[in-house]
Amino acid sequence: MQDNYFHSVKFDKEQCRGCVTCIKFCPTEAIRIRGGKARIIQSRCIDCGECIRRCPHHAKRADTDTLADVGKFNFNVALPAPALYSQFAPAVSREKIFAALHRLGFDAVYEVALAAECVTLEIESYMKRRAGLKTPMISSACPAIIRLIQVRFPSLIGHIIPILPPVEVAATEARREFTRATGLAAETIGVWFLTPCPAKATNIRQPVDVTATDLSGAIGISSFYGEMKKIIGAISESDIAKARASSYGIGWGYAGGEIRATGLVNSLIVHGVKEVADVLEQIEMNKMDDVDYVECLACPGGCIGGALLPENRFVAEKNLKLRVRRLRDREPAGRRQTILGGREIAQGNSAFRHKTIQPRPIMKLDDNIVIAMKKVGQIKQILAELPGIDCGACGSPTCASLAEDIVQGLAAETDCVFKLRQVVNALEEEMSKPPKNARGETGTEE
Ligand code: SF4
Ligand code: SF4
Repeated sequence: MQDNYFHSVKFDKEQCRGCVTCIKFCPTEAIRIRGGKARIIQSRCIDCGECIRRCPHHAKRADTDTLADVGKFNFNVALPAPALYSQFAPAVSREKIFAALHRLGFDAVYEVALAAECVTLEIESYMKRRAGLKTPMISSACPAIIRLIQVRFPSLIGHIIPILPPVEVAATEARREFTRATGLAAETIGVWFLTPCPAKATNIRQPVDVTATDLSGAIGISSFYGEMKKIIGAISESDIAKARASSYGIGWGYAGGEIRATGLVNSLIVHGVKEVADVLEQIEMNKMDDVDYVECLACPGGCIGGALLPENRFVAEKNLKLRVRRLRDREPAGRRQTILGGREIAQGNSAFRHKTIQPRPIMKLDDNIVIAMKKVGQIKQILAELPGIDCGACGSPTCASLAEDIVQGLAAETDCVFKLRQVVNALEEEMSKPPKNARGETGTEE
């Protein structure tokens, strides 16, 4: 199938041992093992990073920008994802974190968590309209989920809330703020997202929601974390930037943070791609029309579980929740009043999506409907002959996917070890029979 999509998840053939671990976990069945090596079907990949997390031989990696790319601009702004804070104990202040970023080469910091507050207010006011909304509305924050909807649930595109994810709003605000503050031309300023996942990097190179992004690139947190950790211990205080985001913005870094910030009560918090896919299936079957909003995140636990974060996910969750709690204790005002601290962005910048999200269906067997229907019949026939235990030994993730691969000419029936055994047994049986005489009769020649 033709692929016009950029992907941040890359594959190192040399490292791959063909162990089939990744094919069992890929949520869109985008991986096959052929010739003893994994192969990514590009049209199916949603860049969730699950295979990076699972591969025991580090054969999958994320292709993101690096600190060296920062040198291309005169002035550089770091946009830390709220999940970056989860990599440090709550006693390490955000100002210290910003100072470490300064030493790594950034001239300024703009918190994505601050933009998350603006997005929170936009979601809240959008959801108040209620009449005419396709419920449940689905959060737009996680690009891996947006891609999952594009490839597996295109009928749900109208349910995605038409509001930009915080990182895009942050980029526009940061570029505006620092163009004004420095007097430099906007194009000479680098605006870098410090990303917990490859999906965000993909969305920058090939955005689904904006016509042109204000981001210069995305730098994977794991690529500089070691160096940052070394620096941070030696920093006493910072004058690079003051932390501005409230506990509500920072909470977007873990599952449930968006819902807490928006105050949407009749809502679901779903995390982990397989779990999200299950819920999306239910929504597709109209079984959740009475729910208003669903926060869907590809990583277990939310962004703190991102594939490019080095810290243990549970420790990261504890760190961020504790940081939020401590901050909340110093925020005596109510939810709205606290968030309205970010009102200057809410009024100055439209957070609405620039363009319609397009479907990317992957289930099409053929452009010609007659041929496609014929293939459906063939798949059913082949599947009925397969053992149905989804062992993955054939290199396809399930028996159904092997049947489809066979019909599409991408695999052979004998790739299934059970079918192969049947063929070998039949051959052995045939060979063990006594030879036939010239008249085609079996028995001993006299
Ligand atoms: S998990 Fe996938 S990519 Fe990694 S070694 Fe096993 S088959 Fe290869
Ligand atoms: S949950 Fe967060 S870290 Fe994970 S893929 Fe989505 S945006 Fe990236």
